[in-house]
Parts: sequence; C-alpha cells; structure tokens
Amino acid sequence: MRRLSLLGSTGSIGTQTLDVVQNLLAQGEKIQVEVLAAHSNVALLEAQARQFSPKAVAVYDEVAAHSLRNSLRDTDIAVLSGKEGLCQAAAWESADIVLNAVVGMVGLEPTLAALRAGKDVALANKETLVAGGSLVMETAQTRGAAILPVDSEHSAIFQCLQGCPGKGAVDQLILTASGGPFFGRTREELASVTREEALRHPNWSMGAKISVDSATMMNKGLEIMEASWLFGMPEDRIQVVVHRESIIHSMVQYADHAVLAQLGVPDMAVPIQYALTYPRRLPSPAKELRLWELQSLTFFPPDPKTFPCLELCREALRRGGLVPAAVNGANEQAVALFLEGKIGFLQIPALVEAAMERQACKESVTLEGVLTADLDARAFVRSAL
Ligand code: NDP
Ligand code: MG
Repeated sequence: MRRLSLLGSTGSIGTQTLDVVQNLLAQGEKIQVEVLAAHSNVALLEAQARQFSPKAVAVYDEVAAHSLRNSLRDTDIAVLSGKEGLCQAAAWESADIVLNAVVGMVGLEPTLAALRAGKDVALANKETLVAGGSLVMETAQTRGAAILPVDSEHSAIFQCLQGCPGKGAVDQLILTASGGPFFGRTREELASVTREEALRHPNWSMGAKISVDSATMMNKGLEIMEASWLFGMPEDRIQVVVHRESIIHSMVQYADHAVLAQLGVPDMAVPIQYALTYPRRLPSPAKELRLWELQSLTFFPPDPKTFPCLELCREALRRGGLVPAAVNGANEQAVALFLEGKIGFLQIPALVEAAMERQACKESVTLEGVLTADLDARAFVRSAL
C-alpha cells in the first residue's frame, strides 16, 4: 500500500497525479490519498476531497481555508491552513510518500518537513532544489529518504541511470529542451511578445509560471541546477540540446561515450507514475510512441544571446551559496510582474541578472539565509519597477 500526500493537487501536475492514481486504482493497485494541499482553489479541492476521501486537506490561504472548513462540515476531513498546514500535510504521519507539485520556492519548507519525517519525496517542485539544494540533499541523506524526480528530464535521466555501475561511469547528463514558443526568434523580436504568446507552449500544457520559464528558457536553467543536485554533477558536465519534438526526454552519456536516452510521447503521466510506483513499471494512460509517424527528430544548440537565462543559471550554480536562491526569487517575482502586464518579456532576464549581481556568493547556506535571499531578491525586483 502506497499512502500519498499530494501538495499542489489543484494544479497541472496535481490534477494529472490524481488521474494517474485513479488509473492505478482501476488496475487494482493499492494506493491511498491521505492528504491534499493547495493554495486557494477550494472549489476543486473540495471536489477532489469528496472523490478521494483523504484524512486532511491543507489550504495555504486562511480565508479560503475557512470557507472550505464550512463546505466540508458534513465529512471527517480535517482542514489545515497556512504555511504550517502545508508543512503538516507534508509530514502527515500515515503518508509514506509526498508528491510535491506546488509552484515556487514556497515548496522548500514542506519538502524539508517531509524529508525530516522520513518520507520519500516525489519532486515536481524544482524551485525547492534550486533555492535550497544543499539543505534538501543533506536532509534526505541524514533521514535515509529518497527523492524521486517528477520533472520529465530528470525522470528520464533517473531512468537511464538504472543499472549504472557507479558514479564514475557517468560522463555527462544531456538535458533536452523544447526551445519553447519563441525558438528561432531574435532578441529584438522578443521585446514585444505578449503574455498570451509566452503561455502558448508547443508541446506541453502546464501552469503559467513554468510556461513563462519555458519561454525565457529559465526553465532549462533551473533544470540544470536541479540536475546538479539530484545527480551530484557539476555544471560543466550537464549539456543542453534543443529538441523541438520533446520525444527524447533527456539522456546520459557514459564514460565509454555510449548514450542512453528515454523516449516517449510528451505526457507527464509517465514520470509521475514512475515516481509513484518506482521501481515497478505498470500500464499508464500515456499513448504509445509511433516513431514512423514522426519520421525525424531534430536537434539544435541553444541560443545564449536570445535566451540569456540559461547562462545566468549556470553562473549562479558556479557561484553557489545563496546566489541560486536569489536568482530563483528574482525570477519568480519578475515572472509574476510579466504575467500582470507590468514588465516586458526581456526585463525578466535583465532583472534576474541584476539580482544575481547583488547577492554575495560565499555565504553558507541555512534555511533562514535562503528565505532572506529569496525575499531580498523579490523586493529588489519590485523596487526596480
Ligand atoms: P500550477 O500553477 O498548475 O499549479 C500549482 C499548484 O500549486 C496549485 O495546486 C496551487 O494551488 C498550488 N500552490 C501554489 N502556491 C501554493 C501555496 N503557497 N501553498 C500550497 N499550494 C500552493 O503549476 P504546475 O502544476 O504547472 O507546476 C507545479 C510545479 O511542478 C512547478 O514547480 C513546476 O516547475 C513543476 N513542473 C511542472 C510541469 C508541468 O508539466 N506542469 C513539468 C515539470 C515540472 P491553487 O490551485 O489553489 O492556486
Ligand atoms: Mg522539465
């Protein structure tokens, strides 16, 4: 029996996770949803709670939590609230695995709470590793808890590493990138792109923040940092290749230059399910890959002039300490301002770079330090308006 706590259940990954759970239950798998958590979408959270009968739900927003408490009065489901409620949901006693699909660095503390409680964490929330990678990896190691990647590239690498004879056998990690909606454009052309254009991803349907991150290629930069922590690889051994079709989800190049790739139609059900059932492989709702229908797969080098975020993230990873937390916080704030129509698309990388330059590098990483670096970077970006 797998007992699941699902954080961010109302989002793109969260709803797909519940579809995967439903499909596993239909196959007779034993999986029980123990807790659900979201920010404020209580209409959907209530429907999910009535369908999956968890022991508790957590709502970050206090007002929304109050309203859900009222609507769930006829049930035994406890309603938790605030950041504390989210961390309680993550450390819920009867759960043995936590799938963290909240968006943004608010996912860091619940991830740490889950790991401290000895839970395995299936991690979609990449900002957790970007901002607090060393804290997360140390906590997982001390508590003997596993971190199972849900991000499709990292799941692909994790899959390609099964059977790996030892760390010395790996030469490079190769992350594939779709290139996003603005692949092939020039920097000048990006100056006037709109919110709607940025949200139109060619291959994946995702939440707004990660869609904008894909358009700036910040997403791939964050994924370089995520991969570095998950697989213990330095930045210069993580390559990025633009692969428009999103069929190869990522690759591992071994010491003998054999390259292993994981392929499939772009469908998050596969990495989500693998994280939940690892090491088992079970039928999933994802479609079969028919290579002859595609005929060809294409590959291009990234364009660092048009998409500077990729190099900014490499630099942040090299500088280390609290710099990645500042870069992540600045990006979250800049993306929010872009989505509100308050800044242009090209201001996102400019503000992230300026915030990175302000952050001193050689500081040791504590949770307080990460939270402060994050808040400072956000305040700086807002003040630059
Ligand atoms: P969405 O915006 O679709 O969903 C975000 C979820 O997080 C919602 O359930 C939201 O609740 C919840 N949430 C936001 N803030 C809080 C908070 N303070 N407390 C509790 N819950 C909160 O995002 P995605 O599903 O697209 O992405 C989630 C994470 O997964 C991100 O880190 C993203 O980078 C990563 N990821 C996503 C992929 C995808 O295909 N979508 C692929 C790979 C990684 P509410 O609905 O109430 O606002
Ligand atoms: Mg990804």
